[in-house]
Amino acid sequence: MDKQEQLDQIKADIVNNNICPDLATQATNLVFGDGNPNADIVFIGEAPGKQEDEQGLPFVGASGKFLSEMLTGINMRREEIYITNIVKYRPPNNRDPEPAEKQAFLPYLLKQLMVIQPLLVVTLGRHSMTCFIPDAKISQIHGQPKRITIGERGIETGNKRNKPKIATGPVPSAKSLSPGKIVILPLYHPAAALYNGSMRAVLQEDFSTIPEILRLIRKGK
Ligand code: URA
Repeated sequence: MDKQEQLDQIKADIVNNNICPDLATQATNLVFGDGNPNADIVFIGEAPGKQEDEQGLPFVGASGKFLSEMLTGINMRREEIYITNIVKYRPPNNRDPEPAEKQAFLPYLLKQLMVIQPLLVVTLGRHSMTCFIPDAKISQIHGQPKRITIGERGIETGNKRNKPKIATGPVPSAKSLSPGKIVILPLYHPAAALYNGSMRAVLQEDFSTIPEILRLIRKGK
């Protein structure tokens, strides 16, 4: 199976395994993910909003437009990257996803990452960040790349699952990058930054470091 076929299978598994049936019955579409299955970068948001639910595609509303603008600013096109969310059905009235919902979708998100094998995973907002770096505060670690390992059993930590080892130092040296090892870059969510001038400036500044982080990771390979 090629990568797209493997991703299609993961999407079918979410439906067949009846993940979050309460959310599923209220949603119009399962918003699985979109973009290039061979992408070097995967962006992970929180959950679909109204427009995403209607179209079955992630980040097509106002925050998606802002995300596309920031991508243009670093000379990247949406077709080059892959975008998904931790929770793949729209929560009613755009409420925050519940911990149990994030937990239910996490194995499928990790499988998506294992198929795509990106060099860099950019988490947008605290909900997707805490899937990888559970106890972190986004105000303290935004813009700082962290290395984690994703294995067959989920996020590997040495001894505890879901407690990834965090690389020391803000920029990855990427020397030991190999399949299964990825770098996480936690960023603020575009929707939170959209109407907050200072957070917007911080997000844009963090975003502008992506090409340099990618360059360092590639150099270390
Ligand atoms: N916000 C998200 O977190 N994800 C989307 O797909 C759209 C808005």
